[in-house]
Amino acid sequence: MSQAPFVLGWEEWLALPGLGLPALKAKVDTGARTSALHAFAIEPFGVAGQREVRFGVHPVPGRNDIEVFCRGLIVDRREFTSSNGEAELRYVIETNVKFGDHAWPIEISLTNRQTMSYRMLLGRQSIAEDALVAPHRSFQQPELSYAVYERPSARRRPLRIAMLTREPDNYSSRRLVEAAVQRGVVIATVDTARCSLRISPDAPALDFAGRPGADFDAVIPRIGRSIASHGVSVVRQFEALGRYALNGAEAIAIARDKLRAHHVLARHGIAMPRTAIAYSARDARQLIDMVGGTPVVIKLIEGTQGRGVVLAETRKAAESVFGAFRDIDAAVLVQEFVTEAEGADVRCVVLGGRVIAAMQRQAAPGEFRSNLHLGGSALKVKLTPEERKLAQRAALAIGLELAGVDMLRTRNGPVVLEVNASPGLEGIEGITGKDLAGLIIDHICARATPGVETPVQVADHAPERSGANGK
Ligand code: ADP
Ligand code: MG
Repeated sequence: MSQAPFVLGWEEWLALPGLGLPALKAKVDTGARTSALHAFAIEPFGVAGQREVRFGVHPVPGRNDIEVFCRGLIVDRREFTSSNGEAELRYVIETNVKFGDHAWPIEISLTNRQTMSYRMLLGRQSIAEDALVAPHRSFQQPELSYAVYERPSARRRPLRIAMLTREPDNYSSRRLVEAAVQRGVVIATVDTARCSLRISPDAPALDFAGRPGADFDAVIPRIGRSIASHGVSVVRQFEALGRYALNGAEAIAIARDKLRAHHVLARHGIAMPRTAIAYSARDARQLIDMVGGTPVVIKLIEGTQGRGVVLAETRKAAESVFGAFRDIDAAVLVQEFVTEAEGADVRCVVLGGRVIAAMQRQAAPGEFRSNLHLGGSALKVKLTPEERKLAQRAALAIGLELAGVDMLRTRNGPVVLEVNASPGLEGIEGITGKDLAGLIIDHICARATPGVETPVQVADHAPERSGANGK
């Protein structure tokens, strides 16, 4: 018997033969307990007591065209704290790890962050007791090569997108469907109100109006106020299946709550009108003082499209409006009225951290709210570099990939009014002449991955409409 110690450097080649991964470069990380593998399209299946998970791996960093689909037995589903400090629920599977002639079983958690330069982290639980870790050395074990993956890849199918909306026939929905079809992408509009979730410790599942949500590679959430909290749950579950959501559940939840959004924007140092909230109608006076006196704007925390936004010119009016809202238990915020905006605001559409279009909206005569739904008109606008930067920072702060950032031009520079998670495309495509729907679909195509053919089939044609979509 050889007495030479088994040494692992801080990076090593290894194989996971049970998963069909003959060569992976791993970072040996004794700071982590469990090993982790970066996977996508994570999808549980199987029967109770024998639950399995199917997932894709891009074994070669930077080569997303090379993908291997694997399956493994689920041994656990646990919460992990990822490097950004957020809790994440992951599947844990068991499989053999192999270095040269040595192999032993290890537990691996599956996570879907694709940005890591190592596809695998080897945690301390996975390191054999008699192994030595030499943190200053690398590749102590036999080297392997990625060349093993250079073979014709599995049959690809077109990307499948589900658009969650209660309004499949409005301008934005129609344009997104049109843009997807033009690009050969399968898209279905799914009524958010007809989505159901199975909550289960080991087998979460989604039903999109009678079809498995797991059939889709990506969702475009266009979630209106009436269905916001259910819609956020649907998106959260979709993300938990390892799928791509154009806007994540957490960011949507922040955006739809004006108060929470203001807190987040403030924390990121983003300029906004002076804003305050109070609980009791008895504190209306202090509240108005906090924002610098009247005139003030009073807003429902969960309002949209200008509904629930009221201008109070005098203290008396402000106190009674605030009191009336509180009487019916409506949560509101009070904001300084930016008089010099003169009924105009600037809407920027931010996609993937870049402003892709902007317009000015001018309120109808006698109206201070510039929402297009209230008769406002769309005008061309040229953004200042400061405005552009502010819009990008606001979208980033909330965490939205696609956002409509509304700003007012004040004498002290731009301030952010709100950040919308499903910006309408109608006025802004018209006034800018830009194909925003196309840019959005391209953005999704660059990020979501179509799986190989799955056992449950979705008809590969497009567009599709669910006839049951009501309003
Ligand atoms: P909603 O979510 O209902 O669109 P907003 O906060 O965007 O609510 O307000 C609607 C519109 O009212 C804005 O687009 C803007 O034209 C006007 N408005 C809102 N807040 C202010 C304010 N503090 N000062 C001046 N105008 C405002
Ligand atoms: Mg608005």
